[in-house]
Amino acid sequence: MSAFTNAMRQLDLAATIAPLDPKTLDALHHPARTINVEFSIVMDDGSTRFFHGYRVQWNNVRGPFKGGLRFHTQVDLDEVKALAFWMTIKCAVAGIPFGGGKGGVTVNPKELSSGELERLTRAFTRAIADCIGSDKDIPAPDVNTTPQIMDWLADEYGKVIGHQDLAVVTGKTVGKGGSEGRGTATAQGGFYVFDVYRQKFGVDPESLSVVIQGFGNAGETMAKIFHHHGYKVVAVSDSKGGIHSEHGLDIPGVIEHKKKTGSVTGFNNLETLTQEQLLTLPCGLLVPSALENQLTAEIAPRVQAQMILELANGPTTPEADAYFAKHGVTVIPDVLANSGGVTTSFLEWQQNKIGEHWDEGRVFQRLEPLMRQAAQDVISTAEKYGATQREAAFILAIERIAEAMKGE
Ligand code: NAD
Repeated sequence: MSAFTNAMRQLDLAATIAPLDPKTLDALHHPARTINVEFSIVMDDGSTRFFHGYRVQWNNVRGPFKGGLRFHTQVDLDEVKALAFWMTIKCAVAGIPFGGGKGGVTVNPKELSSGELERLTRAFTRAIADCIGSDKDIPAPDVNTTPQIMDWLADEYGKVIGHQDLAVVTGKTVGKGGSEGRGTATAQGGFYVFDVYRQKFGVDPESLSVVIQGFGNAGETMAKIFHHHGYKVVAVSDSKGGIHSEHGLDIPGVIEHKKKTGSVTGFNNLETLTQEQLLTLPCGLLVPSALENQLTAEIAPRVQAQMILELANGPTTPEADAYFAKHGVTVIPDVLANSGGVTTSFLEWQQNKIGEHWDEGRVFQRLEPLMRQAAQDVISTAEKYGATQREAAFILAIERIAEAMKGE
């Protein structure tokens, strides 16, 4: 099933559970705008090369379109449409005043020199400049796009409009108006969300064992946070495989080992596990933090976790999701669990708008109540409709979007 078909299926499923406004449901099946641009740059060897770029603006009734830009060879409009739709849901669940969008350029940025990458970013910015703006559509980093690329975008946009408007893009470097804490915000937000569920279900931190798949920005930070709070992280993995110790891993040691060797595998001579072995280990909490479609119908019956915190986007297939719902496994959905990233983007946007720069403590002081409130709201919605946490997140988002559409 394509990502977009899956997204629309989630939307339709939510409508079977709660009495949702038909006008809103209809609007959410269609993007507000799909922008296609062709632009050229001069390459280092003097030749001219054309590129294809796009931006899908899904819905902006709650605020400006918001979502990442990816630079990737396989531009799949179907997937980008799904991602733009999910951003609409995610921003509404998080309760931040943004709609949803997504975009990118068909390119392998690793084949470009730094100068070519900068010229490409600036040319793409000029091509979409009419469609973006700090009150219109606010891009951010995504696959293969970095804070440096966001800085170039902000700079070029300022030149086009004749004055600086740093809030046009988030995920910038701190020196160019980026927010402190953005690098660790997704995991930090995920931890606040988990903590609300932990209290709700009366889970004892002392006895909870945690398994984390993926040891990149999201997974490694999550492991660090759980370890710091005294939880037992019993297994972690990266693309090369996983490691497990039922007594709990020394996470700072694993991080050090990964820095030296490039992988978590081989730490303390522990046996290397396959991803499947890792995902089916006995544990209280499983945190997929790598790729989509990891928890499938085939693996789901062997998953022993009581709770799943989706830090990755789309790690659970609809079939596995249905299995977990039937067998009492609580899945804290991606649109809630990993919304700490976009919520911190909102805090960056706010800082830029009022010309302030907050330290990390202040950023997380604002992030925490927003994330806890979002989690509480999803839990209350699930209780109200007897829905799963994912269904509840969709229902809550659609209700909020419907509320905003009343004035249209
Ligand atoms: P990343 O590239 O920093 O890390 C990805 C990790 O997954 C790496 O450790 C990699 O080795 C591992 N990995 C790759 N293939 C794997 C495989 N087959 N099995 C197990 N592990 C594998 O990426 P990230 O930023 O940490 O993002 C991870 C997930 O979290 C993605 O789904 C992303 O969309 C989602 N997410 C991230 C953020 C963020 O702020 N970083 C925000 C929202 C959602």
